[in-house]
This record gives sequence, C-alpha cells and structure tokens, in this order.
Amino acid sequence: METYLSQLNDAQLAPTLQKDGPMIVIAGAGSGKTRVLTYRIAYLMSQGVDSFNILALTFTNKAAREMKERIATIVGTSEAKNLWMGTFHSVFAKILRFEADRLGYPSNFTIYDTQDSDRLIASIIKEMNLDKDLYKYKQIRSRISSYKNSLITVKAYFQNPELIEADAMARRPKMGEIYKNYVDRCFKAGAMDFDDLLLKTNELLTRFPDVLAKYQDKFRYILVDEYQDTNHSQYLIVRALSDRFQNICVVGDDAQSIYAFRGANINNILNFQKDYDDVKLFRLEQNYRSTKNIVNAANSIIDKNQTKLDKVVWTANDEGAKIKVNRSLTDGDEGRFVASSIFENKMQNQLRNSDFAVLYRTNAQSRAIEDALRKRDIPYRIYGGLSFYQRKEIKDVLSYLRLIINPADEEALKRVINYPARGIGQTTADRLIVAANGYNRSIFEVLQNIDKIEININSGTKNKLKDFVTLIESFQVLNQTANAFELAEHVTKASGLIREFNKDGTPEGVARMENIEELLNGIKDFVEGQKELADSTASLAEFLEDVALATDLDADKGDSDHVALMTIHLAKGLEFPYVYIVGLEEDMFPSAMSMNTRSELEEERRLFYVALTRAEKQAYLTYALSRYRWGKLIDSEPSRFIEEIDEEFLDIITPIEERRFNPMLDSDIFGDVEPNKIRFKKPVQPTFNKKQFKTEKASEKIIISTPKNLKPVSKTNGSTNLFDSKLTVGNIVEHLRFGKGEVVKIEGVGGDTKAEIKFDKGGIKKLLLRFAKLEII
Ligand code: ATP
Ligand code: MG
Repeated sequence: METYLSQLNDAQLAPTLQKDGPMIVIAGAGSGKTRVLTYRIAYLMSQGVDSFNILALTFTNKAAREMKERIATIVGTSEAKNLWMGTFHSVFAKILRFEADRLGYPSNFTIYDTQDSDRLIASIIKEMNLDKDLYKYKQIRSRISSYKNSLITVKAYFQNPELIEADAMARRPKMGEIYKNYVDRCFKAGAMDFDDLLLKTNELLTRFPDVLAKYQDKFRYILVDEYQDTNHSQYLIVRALSDRFQNICVVGDDAQSIYAFRGANINNILNFQKDYDDVKLFRLEQNYRSTKNIVNAANSIIDKNQTKLDKVVWTANDEGAKIKVNRSLTDGDEGRFVASSIFENKMQNQLRNSDFAVLYRTNAQSRAIEDALRKRDIPYRIYGGLSFYQRKEIKDVLSYLRLIINPADEEALKRVINYPARGIGQTTADRLIVAANGYNRSIFEVLQNIDKIEININSGTKNKLKDFVTLIESFQVLNQTANAFELAEHVTKASGLIREFNKDGTPEGVARMENIEELLNGIKDFVEGQKELADSTASLAEFLEDVALATDLDADKGDSDHVALMTIHLAKGLEFPYVYIVGLEEDMFPSAMSMNTRSELEEERRLFYVALTRAEKQAYLTYALSRYRWGKLIDSEPSRFIEEIDEEFLDIITPIEERRFNPMLDSDIFGDVEPNKIRFKKPVQPTFNKKQFKTEKASEKIIISTPKNLKPVSKTNGSTNLFDSKLTVGNIVEHLRFGKGEVVKIEGVGGDTKAEIKFDKGGIKKLLLRFAKLEII
C-alpha cells in the first residue's frame, strides 16, 4: 500500500479507495473530510487518472492551495500543477474566459467586486430618479444576487408575477427595471459580477451542448468540499458536469451549513443520494482535532437541533481542559479579558500568537478586542475586512490597469476619469453616461468619438477628454511589450497617481504610498512566479483576475505570527489550538435577526457548533453584561447556547461577586484603564449633543466628563436569572423550555450553584443557575 495511505484510518480509507461512481462522505467536524479529499486525489492519480481530468472545488482558494501543496508532496509538483483546484468562482471564471465569446462577452471581461456592483446600482438608482431611501443599493444588490443564484434571469423575473408582486408589496415596483438596467450595463461594460460567474457558467453549459460535453470529458473526476454550503447555481453546475461519468465525490457536514442567508441550500447535501444512482455513502466518526471535552460539548449542542442527520462523533484524544466561560461587565472588559488570557496562555505554555483565534458573530465586534490586544502589544490580524485590493488607493491603480485590459469597464472608468483631477466635472461625466446609454456604446467608445457625436460638452473639456483617451491608449500600447510589473509601475507615474499621493504629506498619505509600493511588489512577485510556468504569459489580465477573486484569507501566506480575528463564517474548515468565542449574548449570538423561526435559530446553533469545533485544545466562551450597540449601552443576557452545553463540560472562571453587584466600584471599568475613552470613542452617545462630536475639542471634553450619563450596569433583565436569588429546595419554578417543576436539590456556590429540578414533563434536570431561565412561582 502507498505509504501516505497509512495516515488514514479504516473509515477514511474506504471513501479514499472508492475510485469510481457517485459518493458522499457525511461526517462531523474534524473527522478528516478534507483530508480524505486530499488523499483521494493523490490516490486517483496513482491509479492512472490523469491529473488534467480532476476538478476539486473548495471553500477558499487558500484551502485549495494547501491541498495542492500536500498532494504535491505525494505525487510531485509537476503533476500536481495540472490539477484544477479552487473555489467555484475562480475555477469557473477561468472557464468563462476560454468560452466568453459564446456568451457575447470579451475574453478579457472584468470581474466586478461588490464595491463596483454597489456603485453601479447606486448610479442606476440616481439616473432613474428613484428615492434612495426606498431603493437602498445594498438591499437591491443582495436581491439581485439572490435572483441570480436561483437562476432567475431578467426575463424570468418579468415572467413571474409573484416576484413582481412581492417587490411591489415591498414598495419597490421598479426593482425589475433596476435589475434589467444593471444586467445591461454590466454586459455593455464587459463585466461580470461574482454571481454571474456561476449564472453564466450555467448558461454556458445549458445553451451549448458541445461546451458541456467538452468539460464533462475533461473533468472526469469531480470532488467538492463543504458541500453543505453550495447554492442552487453551484449545485446545477456540479450536476451538469458530473452527469456523464458520474464520478462525483462530495464531502460535508449538514451540521455545519451556515450560509443559508447567502443562498446556500442544505437540501443539496440532504438529497444527494436521490440525485444519482447507486450513491455510496460513507461516514467518519473519529474526530482528530479536538479534546474529548470539546467534542462532547459540541455534540451536546448540535443535539438540540431538530433538523439534522444523525451522526456519531467521538475522539480518542485527551479529555482536555473544560471549556472556560467568562463573564465581563462590558464589551471593553471582555476585550481585556481575552487579551490578558491570551497573554497568560502564551507565557505559561510557550505558545505562538498564531495558536490563538478570536471568533465573533459580526465584524463590528472586533473593535473592543483589537483595542485590548494592541494595549498588550499582541500582534493580530483581522480577516474579512476590506481586502487589500479594495483599499481606495489600490483600487485607483487597479482601475487604470483594468481600463487597459477592458476599456469598456464603466466602473473603472468612472473612478479615474477625473482622478487625479484633470478638470472633468460630474456634469460632464453624467452627460457621457447619458450619451453612452443613448448610443448603446461604452463610455470609452463615446470618448473616442467625442468629435463625431452630438453631446453638450464644450471644446475645452473635450480636449481634456481626448487627452485622457490618449493616456489610456498609450498604456495599451505599452501593454503589448512590457510585463505586468513594468506596465503598472509606469501607470502609477504617468497617470499622476504617485504625485497625487505624495502631495498629501499626511501620515495617511504616506501609508497610501506604502500600499502602492506593496501592490507593485505583489505584481513583481506574480510576474516572477508566473515565469516558472511554461504556459503562462504573466500578463496583466491574469494578475487582475487573481486580484478580483482574492480575499484576505487567501492572501495570508502564514509568514507572520499573529492572533487571528475573524467571523465564525470565515473560520469554517480552519482549526486553532486556542479559540475564544466572544459576544455570547442573546440578540448578539443568536443574532436578534435570526430568531424568528426555528430554522433560523437552528442555523445560528450550527454556527455555534462550527465555532466551537474549530478549537483543538481549549475553548473560551465569553459574554458581557452590557455592550455598546448602535451607540447605546445595552444590557444583555448570556446566550442560550451557553446554557445548552452540558454543564459537566464547563468551567465558570468569572470572578463574579464584586462585578455583579457593585459595578461602580469595579476598577476595571472606572479605574485606571481610560474608561471614558473606551466608551466615548463610539460615534453616537445619545445623551450628548451630536454636534459636539464633530469637533475634536468637543470630543476631548467628552472624554474627561464623568460617567454620570452612563446607565449603571444593572442585573440582566428579561427572564429571571436566579443564581443570585434565594432559591431553596421545595420551590416551584417555571422554566422557559421545560415548564413547571420543583427544586429537589441545590449544590455548589456562587456562579457554580446548580439546582436539581424535577419537571412535570421533562423529568429531573440539573441546571446551572447562572444560565437557567427560571422563575419562582
Ligand atoms: P471540518 O468539518 O472542520 O472541515 P474535516 O472533517 O474536514 O473538518 P480535517 O480538517 O480533514 O477534518 O481534519 C481535522 C484534523 O485532524 C486535521 O488537523 C487533520 O490533519 C487531522 N486528521 C484527520 N485524519 C487524521 C488521521 N487519520 N490521523 C491523524 N490526524 C488526522
Ligand atoms: Mg474540512
């Protein structure tokens, strides 16, 4: 047997060695699904399957890269290079380039990122004179996105009275028209947005049987990781491509399906066995990632979900430490707890920063954590914010580069036509858009023909427009001979961008210049890297494609040692020795927006399951009793998810007494840690006159003011939390879920106090009073 196969257990070997036919691996977190996929590819190649005939679809490009590297160590680098591996978006963007002409697109089409889509939609709303409070561009974008992911084209939209009616009811009767304009404008600009990469692939495969046959023949073996989070559009692509050979292997965990809000359809994994004939089903049960405590705690949580496939997950790993639960007074306090805990763990256990991750429900929560980590000089990195390539100055440069490749690119053109300023005003730009729409041409074509068409622009401005065209055309000429780096370097100078950024002189200006330098270094790296590949031209177009689909997770080369901060959604598939899950409060996690239906709540619970199962050695759950949200200090209660974990896996570490009862004396809050600064940095503090916030002086004044405006942190409200009240044996209580019962035993002290309660319906339960939602009746 091949030696690498000895690194798999028997249950993992079975799907790895199952060479042909449709198959599905359903298994819990950390059981080796991704490992199976990786080794399976190596095995297929050892069985004579040509590497050119294998397609593997992963959740991130980083995951694909890591898998490829692992495979390369087994089968050799040159063979591994031929594998098609990546996200749906990156793989099908490549295919669309080859086949673009079939769909009437140029092969050098631009990929619009969400920022570009937003800007275009905002511009369309403005051009249509619609009320921008009713037509919020971000909402419109997400609606268009969900149409596209459900394969509802503009035509299909207008044929569907229900959709039209729904939008009319939502007071957006022009929704269809916006959708149509948006699609037309993207097409004219030679641009596809992210959803188009899937939608157009579907169109390509359904409209052109010869193209479908070609890729069916090419991708004889298809493998998909994280299958539980595929959307309808992705599902159809996989089905179409695998239809001929049916060598399709998907792996996933229904308990980790967390992208429903973005159109992921859990039924894809639940119904897989109905989609193909003779599907082989494999299960993996042994978790290799986490301690017994973590695995069992995670099991006890997911058990609460009704909609799930039954699964067993166990581990032979150590018992490990219990999951630590910490309560803080405020979000700032929570941040400080996390930072000092990381600091202590690092010192005590000789760990690196990269052994730690802090996971949260929403990006906004990172602020308090960041402040605290910075104070302790702990290096960290936030993932999932703006990617490097979306920063303003970088997008400015990239917009010039995009125009060189695809001059029809409307969003790129609008960005730089008057940046750096060259005397072309907004009115002129608006007139150009109107003309372009009228002539059904791109703005660049209008510019090239500015003397031949009727347009209300004076001759002075026309000359400036002509200069702009000449500038871009001169770049295009250079693009024929120079490589991407030489070209980009020239563009930053000749466009005037460098001068513009230098002129600034502020620290921000300097930072911008450094970013530009980093971009140029990146392009240089790309050029050097591509030189090794015989079939690559190191062209600017290729670089731009990489950039368009890059996320900052992909950009992480693991070359710096930092604590990782990210949302749980982004952490899917990853693992860290120490994991802090913060903000475990009702309305925060589960999110207030996801508690209306059972299915929403179950998705939140799956999210919690994903978070906890990222931890290898130690997990921390933290929550704050009050937190700034929307500019207000809001009281909060611990998340129901903490209560749902079987208490035997928990270790409550909070020094409760003084914090709970006398917040005003708590030195952490009002003592030496610049409390006011922490609080008043938030933008809106309702008791202050908003105007005061505008001037720096005023805000200084606010910082030194006493906290009298702050609401004292009180006991949590809502359902009663009884650990600090006098519950005694014999009390009759009412529990939120279990109903009525009688207290039969009380044990433990302080935050550890537990009560055994005999419920009329549910039998005897032991509850941790800190979390139990009980009322004495
Ligand atoms: P998730 O559901 O979180 O995506 P997964 O099922 O894909 O998890 P992997 O990431 O493949 O699980 O594996 C989890 C960890 O266990 C990894 O560190 C992996 O290297 C390790 N592992 C998996 N199988 C084995 C094995 N047979 N022997 C030793 N380590 C293993
Ligand atoms: Mg995995």
